[in-house]
Amino acid sequence: MQAKTKVLITAALPYANGPLHLGHIRSTYLPADICARYNRLKENETLYICATDEHGTPIVFNAEKEGKTPKQLVDYYHEKDKREFEALGFSMDIFHRTSSKENFQMTQHFFSRLKENNYIYKKSVEQYYCPKENRFLPDRYVKGTCPHCGAEDQYSDQCESCGRTLKPGEIQNPRCAICKTPPILKETEHYFFSLSKFSGKLEEWIKSNPGFQEEVKNFVLNWIKEGLRDWDITRNLEWGVPVPNEKGLVFYVWFDAPIGYISSTVALTKRWQEFWKSKDARVIHFIGKDIVYHHYLFWPAMLMGTDDGFNLPSAIPVRGYLNLEQKKFSKSRGWYITLEDYLRIFHPDFLRYYETVITPHAPSDASFSLEEFKERVNNELVANFANLAFRVLSLIDKKLDGKIEGCEFDSEGKALIQKIIDGSREIDGLFEKYEYKSALEKTMHLSSEVNRYISEKEPWKETDHEKIKRTLYTSLNALFYISI
Ligand SMILES: [Zn+2]
Ligand SMILES: [Zn+2]
Repeated sequence: MQAKTKVLITAALPYANGPLHLGHIRSTYLPADICARYNRLKENETLYICATDEHGTPIVFNAEKEGKTPKQLVDYYHEKDKREFEALGFSMDIFHRTSSKENFQMTQHFFSRLKENNYIYKKSVEQYYCPKENRFLPDRYVKGTCPHCGAEDQYSDQCESCGRTLKPGEIQNPRCAICKTPPILKETEHYFFSLSKFSGKLEEWIKSNPGFQEEVKNFVLNWIKEGLRDWDITRNLEWGVPVPNEKGLVFYVWFDAPIGYISSTVALTKRWQEFWKSKDARVIHFIGKDIVYHHYLFWPAMLMGTDDGFNLPSAIPVRGYLNLEQKKFSKSRGWYITLEDYLRIFHPDFLRYYETVITPHAPSDASFSLEEFKERVNNELVANFANLAFRVLSLIDKKLDGKIEGCEFDSEGKALIQKIIDGSREIDGLFEKYEYKSALEKTMHLSSEVNRYISEKEPWKETDHEKIKRTLYTSLNALFYISI
């Protein structure tokens, strides 16, 4: 028996700026939930932590566009996400928020620790400034023409047409996104985190961790080889975690968001340090492939830099995007299914089943197909597993008046039970390696073995009461093993 450990599982924090869709569930929240349930069954002390990510320019910008305050916008999405996760039966121990007082305190604590340890410095940068409104214009408050591909009406930090990241001053023909005035560039002081100082330590840590997916590892090591750039961790905004002793300056959303994993644990339990710092504890972050950089480099470097004794993540499982009928989800073209739409029509378990069988432990993309969804749910989940449970329980009810007593297995029964015990061991190993797709496939395979056993024994035709009893007792045992 393995010693019991503490396991802290997180799912990437949903950004409180739009509805959850089926892709988010597949890449992050569902596998994290499976992991949490598995660890609880193993009697590991398990916490499943999540929260809404509530800061950053896109939220401020969208709230302004909709005539709301940022607070109103994030309140709305926090409640909505929470409701939908509950409807799906996710077993989160807490669903907190990055605008919480715990997160303000923890973020400022990180900042002061990193500053004390000389990992944070101040530097003068040029930022867009609207002379008409007298304010700085971070990231998407400025629009213009992409200097690389010529696409018009692009945000100043990233071109959605060619996907390139843009530096301040690079965009052509810039305009204030709110009042259309051409902005000026103005000097201001920002804080930077010395990510570059961690190159060696990060490389060593990533290479020595056997739990990371090979292809992700290669990707990240390549980034380190190309050279890590220091991060500008502040923004000229009012909405966010304030930088101590600075007016009109808040932390960049990617600075305070991962700290939300810790501060949400603080909000949940006084024993939070045991989960983040003790030797027998493991931290596992489930993420989508778009935020690999933040979780494999930025976040571990922050943890190392505090020198507070935080454990580094022991695993960071990465999963890819979900397409819809082979085409990319796209909000602007209306080609997507929100979780809300799904839940209005279908049972949550169907989604849990289907998304698990199409999701290997890999950053590869998958496609949601309504036809395949229907087929796999009907032919596998319903016809195989649900049918087995229904058959066994209804036969016990009909043939044995709902009562079952222990008895000896015959040789076929013994063989079946042995097969299932061996299979369960294999499934356990797959769960340990985050291979939930294979574990589920193996489970369905065992389920069909039991179905075949019952069909061969034909207990509904049998007249010998002892034989019926034995067949059904064996089947019930088999069902019990499969269910766990
Ligand atoms: Zn472009
Ligand atoms: Zn303006």
